[in-house]
Amino acid sequence: MSEHSTGKLTMEKLVSLCQRRGFIFPSSDIYGGLSSCWDYGPMGVELKRNIKEAWWRAVVQERDDMVGLDTSILMHPRVWDASGHLSQFSDPLVECKNCHLRWRADDLQDEKCPSCGGELTEPHLFNLMFKTFMGPVEEEANVVYLRPETAQGIFVNFQNAVNTSRKRLPFGIAQIGKAFRNEITTGNFIFRSREFEQMEIEYFVKPGTDEEWFDYWLEERLNWYYRLGIKKENLRPREHSEEELAHYARKCYDIDYNFPMGWSELEGLANRGDFDLKQHMTYSGKSLTYLDEETKEHIIPYIIEPSAGVDRSVLAVLCDAYDEEPDKDEIRVLFHFHPDLAPVKVAVLPLSRKENLAAMAKDVYADLRPGFMTQYDDTQSIGRRYRRQDELGTPFCVTVDFQSLEDNQATIRERDTMNQIRVPISALRDTLQAKLAGEDLFVLPPGGQIWKQESGG
Ligand code: ATP
Repeated sequence: MSEHSTGKLTMEKLVSLCQRRGFIFPSSDIYGGLSSCWDYGPMGVELKRNIKEAWWRAVVQERDDMVGLDTSILMHPRVWDASGHLSQFSDPLVECKNCHLRWRADDLQDEKCPSCGGELTEPHLFNLMFKTFMGPVEEEANVVYLRPETAQGIFVNFQNAVNTSRKRLPFGIAQIGKAFRNEITTGNFIFRSREFEQMEIEYFVKPGTDEEWFDYWLEERLNWYYRLGIKKENLRPREHSEEELAHYARKCYDIDYNFPMGWSELEGLANRGDFDLKQHMTYSGKSLTYLDEETKEHIIPYIIEPSAGVDRSVLAVLCDAYDEEPDKDEIRVLFHFHPDLAPVKVAVLPLSRKENLAAMAKDVYADLRPGFMTQYDDTQSIGRRYRRQDELGTPFCVTVDFQSLEDNQATIRERDTMNQIRVPISALRDTLQAKLAGEDLFVLPPGGQIWKQESGG
C-alpha cells in the first residue's frame, strides 16, 4: 500500500469489492452458490487472461528452449496409477461425531472438532481425485478421473514434443489448464477451490545439472512476480523439510505470498528427478528416453517443475495492488495493477453527454479500442467516474471536454498520481502506448502540456 494508505486489506473487503466491481462471483450465485467454485466476471476474466498471457509470454514466447502444450483433462486411468495419484494423492480425513463436520487431520491443532469441540473419528485416507465414467455405462471398468494437475499431460507427451519440436536438452514444456481436486477443506476465497487453473512448466535437463537448473528457475519465477509489480516483501521462498517432501521429489521450494490470511503457497518448485518418465516407461511399456548426442547414450532426463496457480496469482495480484487513500472527506480505493495486468487499460470519459462532445469522444473510443482494452463511460459526474476506474485499476482515463471541440486536445489522467496532461487527440494512441509501456507521464508529445499536477511527481 502507498504511504497514504488508510486501511488494511481483509479478505471480506476484497471479496465484496470483487463482487461489486465484476471481478469474481460465487459460482451458480442465483442458486446460493456452489461451495469452493468461483466465476470470473467481466473484469476478472481480463485480469486472469492477462496473467496467463504474461506467463506464456515470459516462459514460451520469449524463450527458445520452451514449447507449449494443451492436453486433455481426461486421461487414461493408468496415468494415475503410474503417477502415484491413485495410491498417494490423499489427505487424512476426520469427522466430528457430534456435528459431523469433516476436517483434514493434518490441519488441526488438537484432537477436538474446531467447530463444536466434539470428539473426532480416527483419520482415514481420502483420495482427492474427482471420479466420473467414460461412456454410458457406469461401472468400475469405465472410471476416469478429472486431472488433479496438468503436469501428467506433459510427461506422457515427452517423446511427441521431442520428436516434433526438435528441441535438445535442456528444454521445457509449458501448459496452462484446469485441474480439479476434491479438497476436504476449502476457503479463503479463490485460494483453495475444487476447480482451479494451473500454469506448469516441466523443464527437462541432463542428470547432474538439475541442481543448478533448480536454482535458476527459482530465481526466474521470483523475478517474474517482481516484474509484474508484486512487492518483494510479500514473497518468500521456503524450502520443504525432509518430512514434507512429496514422494516424487528430491527437493522442493514453495514460493509463499503474504495473503491476508497469512503466508501461504503461491507456487511450488520441485526437482522431480527421473521419477515421472521412469514411472510412465514402466506402466506404458514405451520408451521415454532421450539420445544424448555427445555420448550417444540413451538417458532419462531429470525434471525441474515450477508449478503456479492461476487463481492464486490472481488473488496475490489483487491483494498486492489494493490500496486505500484519504481523499478530501472520502477514501479513494484503487488497484495499482501493472499496466500489462490491468483489465481495462484506458477509459474514455466525455465531460458531458452533449451530442457534439459525445460524437468526438466516441471517435476517440473507436480509435483506441483496437489497440487497448478500452471502456466508454458517460454516466454520473466526472469525479465519480474517475473513482470507478480507480477501483477497476484502470491506468489511464482520457477526458474529452468542451475545449476539446476547439483545440482537438484531450486530457490523460494517470491513476496512481492523479496527474494530468493534455495532448493532441491525434497523438493519443501513441502517447498512451508509451505510457502503458512505462514512459513517464510528463514526457509530452509535440503540442502537449502539463495540465494538473496533484502530487510532487
Ligand atoms: P497446497 O499445499 O496449498 O494444497 P499443493 O502443494 O497441493 O498446495 P501443488 O500440488 O504443488 O499444490 O500445485 C501447484 C500449484 O497449484 C499450487 O502452488 C497452487 O498455486 C495451485 N493449487 C493447488 N491446489 C489448489 C487449489 N485447491 N485451489 C487453487 N489453486 C491450487
